[in-house]
Formats: sequence, C-alpha cells, structure tokens
Amino acid sequence: MEAQRRLKSSAVLVTRLGGLGGPTAFALAAAGVGKLVIAHGGVLTPSNLNRQILMRGDSVGQPRAPQAEETLRRFAPDLEIVTYARDVSDDCVGEWVSQVDVACATTPDFREHYVLNRECVRQGKPLVHGGMNGMEGQLTTMVPGRTPCVECLVPEPPDWWDPAGFGVIGAVPGCLGNLMALEAIKVITGFGEPLAGVMLTMDLEAGTFGRYSLTRRADCPVCGC
Ligand SMILES: [Zn+2]
Repeated sequence: MEAQRRLKSSAVLVTRLGGLGGPTAFALAAAGVGKLVIAHGGVLTPSNLNRQILMRGDSVGQPRAPQAEETLRRFAPDLEIVTYARDVSDDCVGEWVSQVDVACATTPDFREHYVLNRECVRQGKPLVHGGMNGMEGQLTTMVPGRTPCVECLVPEPPDWWDPAGFGVIGAVPGCLGNLMALEAIKVITGFGEPLAGVMLTMDLEAGTFGRYSLTRRADCPVCGC
C-alpha cells in the first residue's frame, strides 16, 4: 500500500509518445502514477500505426499528443495529465523536468536525449533511458551523481544514426516501453532493483538479453567530477 501511495503522489515525464513512449505512458497510467507530463509534436501518419498504441486509425492527420491524452484519460480518469504538443528542446526542458520525479526519454532523436540528459543532471532527477533500432533495444536508469549519464556513454550521435528514422516492428518498442515504465516504478517506490549503472540489452531477433556494468566518464562535460 505504501508503494502504491508513492506512485499516486508521483509525476513522470514521457517525452515522445511513439512506439516506446506510448506503452511507457500506458503502463505508468495502469500502475497508478498520479501525474503524467507527456509531449509529442507532429501529426499522426498511417505508418505510425504499427506501434503508436495511444493513437487511432480514424485520426490520421490529427495532432498526436491530444489523441494520446484522450486515450489515457478514458483509460485512467483520475490520472492528472499535462500535455505538450511539441518535442522537447532547450527552451522548455527546464519547466517540464521540474514538474516530475522521474523522466523517461522515449525519443528516437539523439539531440533530444542530450537536452533531457543535461537538464536531469542539472536538476538531480533520475532519467530512464531507452533506445532501440530494428530488433534490438537497450535500457538503463541514470541517477545523477551515482551512475553514468547519456553523454558518458554516447558523447555524440553515432555514424549510423539517421534522423529520418528506421524500420521497426511495434512489438519491439512495446516490450522496451513496458520495461521503461517498470524502471520508473522501481525508482519511485523503492521496490526491486533499478538498472542503475547497468545496461540491459535485448536482441529480439535472436531472443537474447544481456547485462553490462557501466562506469562514469571522469571528463564527461555534463556530469564529470
Ligand atoms: Zn556524464
């Protein structure tokens, strides 16, 4: 009961509501989180529908964030939701992070990961970091002052990253998004062991998972000491 009360009085930021963020937000709403701050720019396209479970096929061409909010409100009427119909950037990230206890970075855009990472380190807020490509995914929970941050691990966007996007089967980010929600739940409630300082990797084509220990980079420009 105490853990459930902690969830009810907590707030979580989910930036982007696509293949990762939709399942993350949905699982957090189902678990009983009190407040979600959700953000996603742009309008729904037919190609989004293989993974964006908060959207509907009869709403193609409509803005995505309000559709996600409506789905979550109908599912969990007591949930407080603050919605931003835009993606995270330097001019809004401070206000968004200040409203929550934990942030979930569910964006495919490395630039947004860096913006969110810097602000979470600055405000001392835990950041659940998920990433995927094709049939592979990785997950870690970053705790400022204790674990590596995003820039410790990936100082700059890798060569293979294409801002235009990549192919995906929706069940892959669906799996990872639910694991991200579980990490936020563990951080908020103190239940279980979050993946702090540990990277969980999954190759869903081969059906294998791995765990790797992570270390901070002393010369990291964001969290280096
Ligand atoms: Zn760092």
